[in-house]
Amino acid sequence: MTEEKIVERKPIKATKEMGRIMTAYYFQLNDAARTHSQKIAWCTSVGPAEILRSLGFLVYFPENHGAMLGASRMATDTIPEANAIGYSPDICSYLTADVGAYLKGVTPLSKAYKGIESVPKPDVLVYNTNQCRDVQDWFAWYAREFKAPLVGIETHRGVGDVSDAHVESIAKQMEAIVSPLEEVAGRKFDLEELKRVLALSRECSELWKQVLDTASHTPSPLTFYDGAIHMGPAVVLRGTQQAVDYYRLLLAELNERIANNVAAVEGERHRLYWEGMPIWGRLSAHAKMFAALSTCVLASTYCNSWIFTAFDPDDPFTSMARAYTELFIVRSDESKERYIKQMIDFFKADGVIYHDAKTCPNNSNCRYGMPQRMERLTGLPSLILHGDLNDLRLISDEQTRTNVEAFVEQLEENKT
Ligand code: SF4
Repeated sequence: MTEEKIVERKPIKATKEMGRIMTAYYFQLNDAARTHSQKIAWCTSVGPAEILRSLGFLVYFPENHGAMLGASRMATDTIPEANAIGYSPDICSYLTADVGAYLKGVTPLSKAYKGIESVPKPDVLVYNTNQCRDVQDWFAWYAREFKAPLVGIETHRGVGDVSDAHVESIAKQMEAIVSPLEEVAGRKFDLEELKRVLALSRECSELWKQVLDTASHTPSPLTFYDGAIHMGPAVVLRGTQQAVDYYRLLLAELNERIANNVAAVEGERHRLYWEGMPIWGRLSAHAKMFAALSTCVLASTYCNSWIFTAFDPDDPFTSMARAYTELFIVRSDESKERYIKQMIDFFKADGVIYHDAKTCPNNSNCRYGMPQRMERLTGLPSLILHGDLNDLRLISDEQTRTNVEAFVEQLEENKT
């Protein structure tokens, strides 16, 4: 093992503003749950948040909480609690970390936001299985626990080209959830309000895309690790003005970095594409490890998953159905490979890292020969890292470092 060079992560100034809007978001949820002043809907991260907002719900995303449990490394202590009630260590570790935290009566929100003691209680839970079935089981557990209604959309999986038939069937399901949601919301659905929210969501998506696309510049002004942190508003605040304002601010800062040739990784020598889930408990450690190797992991399918530029306020249900079905995670391997090829070309990557996340087969794309096919197609090397999004018991730091160092050496040889 080589000795690691000490590197400072280059701070993004806009982070302070992101902290402010995320704090306001969580306190608004907390106050509403305490005073019953506004109804709260729990939503999956690529669920129909726009419909919920248009009906006046405050929207809470348990996956964001799952990621916080991972990043704070609290997940290691909470996962066994869920295992003990029959939720296997092999299923989604967002689910097990989150349910375990609830059973244990702990939350990372208390550490991050003084005065918040628990997650906000739901009035309704809304899922879309476009990412996996685990979200359905996860939300069903809480629906039983809180005796709250559970509403869902069941999406086609392994979709090649998204056809009108796919879109139509999902659009119909989206329309069908409106009536039960109206009942919980205690108000009528307003199409104009949905169009307004959807326009904001679209604007947020476009700005988020522009932010991520800045990484195509050489040297890249941001890393995948920055993206994993700054995607927070695109997930939990899409459909609001705050998210739009935030990404304008972040984009301006990144464009300024480009104008001044400021690199996120000093002396950027290799550019890598990340495929799969982040390893939340090692985000900072891995950012430093790659930076010390003058290697910028600069783009990912993961961060790009919250880009919904198909949203069209003039045709809300059909365009939402399309956008939420065109998602990478829903698609066939053939479509995924075409997408990754485009990304590699656009970001001028020298190689790809596939994260085989033990508890998320849904977003681990290296188990059916994809890396080998992509290597043949692109001529670029790839590395598979075995790990997990949240369960640190499934990660060998030593092995990861050894494999990454050997991979970067290989990139260096290819270069010279
Ligand atoms: S996609 Fe993976 S990480 Fe996300 S909820 Fe489903 S199983 Fe969990």
